[in-house]
Amino acid sequence: MLELSFEPPVHKFVSTHFDHAKIDVFIKREDLIHPFVSGNKWRKLKYVLEDARQKGMLHLVSFGGAYSNHLVALACAGARYGFKTSAYVRGEPVKNHMLNLCTTYGMELIFTDRESYKNKWQLFENRFDKNTAYFIDEGGKGNLAQKGCAEMISNITGFSHVCCAIGTGTTFAGIVNGLKKNTIAEGFCVLKNAEAINQEIEQMIHNKTICRIIHHHFHFGGYAKSNEIISDFIRKSATEQGILFDQVYTAKMMLGIIHLAQQGHYPKGSRILAIHTGGLLGLLSQL
Ligand SMILES: *Cc1c(COP(=O)(O)O)cnc(C)c1O
Repeated sequence: MLELSFEPPVHKFVSTHFDHAKIDVFIKREDLIHPFVSGNKWRKLKYVLEDARQKGMLHLVSFGGAYSNHLVALACAGARYGFKTSAYVRGEPVKNHMLNLCTTYGMELIFTDRESYKNKWQLFENRFDKNTAYFIDEGGKGNLAQKGCAEMISNITGFSHVCCAIGTGTTFAGIVNGLKKNTIAEGFCVLKNAEAINQEIEQMIHNKTICRIIHHHFHFGGYAKSNEIISDFIRKSATEQGILFDQVYTAKMMLGIIHLAQQGHYPKGSRILAIHTGGLLGLLSQL
């Protein structure tokens, strides 16, 4: 089903901050995988869709906010592989370019008030038949998603650190589980006051020999909060290097890496691989 038509390339990212710290930073261009099933959402869905197909399911049902990269990815991938798709969208009915894409790919949107939204299984069972409809958790999180994410770094060697942004932490846990010894995994949490996520992530990690660090100081005010520093960084890296980052996840990771490099956090000679997890559709509402 979801087969990669090419292995996403690795591009060097140039910055005077990295020159001063005597480190090299490279970007794994997972954002190039697909325009709408971008980056880690593609990786997260790969085995989920396979599982649904094997179980003979016809209908994929999931959950997300009104700007969910996961829902767009699911709508697009579901349509490609012949599944019906439905999504519970948190909050009042709204229209935006992301949800328009979802409906263009045939996804049914069910707007759900914030209180009812909390009980996802209840919502699912009230409306769908468990024998034909397949439950996919918010953001696509779960073991199968993690397994797909581990493949992001399966062909990668020669790096001292691998970095990614953290939402649910599924991608980070998958990367840790896929890493070989002596590479340090660093995650950059984009949620505020989310220290409790460390425990959830630990439970997903079985490759305990990997050194792992989760940074909680680079959320820039909280989920989807942005500011001038972020938009300046996005504009500068797009203009000067032709690499676009999104304001919710990947720009915050990059600014985190830059800040840490300035603080001398990375030893001289470090070779850092930052995973560009995609999410660029979300940028279109901000430019
Ligand atoms: C969803 C998303 C993430 C977060 O992934 P998790 O597995 O939930 O931690 C990171 N980057 C982008 C671009 C995303 O869309």
